[in-house]
Amino acid sequence: QLFQGKVAVVTGAGSGIGKATAELYSQHGAKVVVSDISLEHGKQTVDDIKAKGGDATFIACDVADPKACKNLIDETVKVYGRLDAACNNAGIGGEANPVADYSIENFDKIIAINLSSVFYCMKYEIPAMLKNGGGAIINMASILGQVGFANSAGYVAAKHGVVGLTQNAGIEYSSQGIRVNAVGPGFIDTPLLNNLDPEMKKALVKLHPIGRLGKAEEIAELVVWLSSNKASFITGSYYPIDGAYLAL
Ligand code: NAD
Repeated sequence: QLFQGKVAVVTGAGSGIGKATAELYSQHGAKVVVSDISLEHGKQTVDDIKAKGGDATFIACDVADPKACKNLIDETVKVYGRLDAACNNAGIGGEANPVADYSIENFDKIIAINLSSVFYCMKYEIPAMLKNGGGAIINMASILGQVGFANSAGYVAAKHGVVGLTQNAGIEYSSQGIRVNAVGPGFIDTPLLNNLDPEMKKALVKLHPIGRLGKAEEIAELVVWLSSNKASFITGSYYPIDGAYLAL
């Protein structure tokens, strides 16, 4: 098994891509720390992993709070003794408005949850990983970490920032055994898209030449592979997974 004896932490693991990723790490033998701001959803993921014979623990964390991120990693090491892989995935969709109408409050909020969080998590994950000789970090960006999307300034700015942070950490820590990469999903059919009406969803499908939205499980496959030793020369990079969205 790819992750036998290894420990993985996933933020935002109560739903969608994070939940699928936590479950896939477990299927590959990892002990998994399931983290989310939602106790109910996080605990459900733990129950689902345990029901399939896996080993998982829930640790609550609001990723916009640096102290909570420190606590998440401290507790992870307390519970399982080490940290090998981290998927910094938690995120929100944010306000839909053009720049001049976008509220300052919501801009600051999405930067905190979708971007500052990735810095906070890496800040504490990296020293924990260095203690056992290295590890792998996967940051959840988006296709919108590479291109713009009308009425999504906060989200687009945050995801571009995630790609930049990933490159920096990749440069700084690869020689010490920590690989850092970002994944850029196209639009994925998860609860994040719940407030879109069916017409809007149809319009989104058209932006993906493959002819459909992605599935959380498809993103999890890339995250888990990039976290594994099979990706040993891959670091400091961004990987779109988007049904040809960016190619169009
Ligand atoms: P989702 O809404 O299904 O799941 C997100 C999870 O994050 C939820 O369980 C939620 O409780 C949690 N969360 C929200 N705010 C949090 C906070 N402050 N602290 C901790 N947890 C918090 O969404 P998803 O589609 O699975 O998205 C996961 C990640 O993938 C996000 O970073 C998102 O931007 C990114 N992404 C999603 C899509 C898409 O189309 N769904 C596309 C590209 C990138």
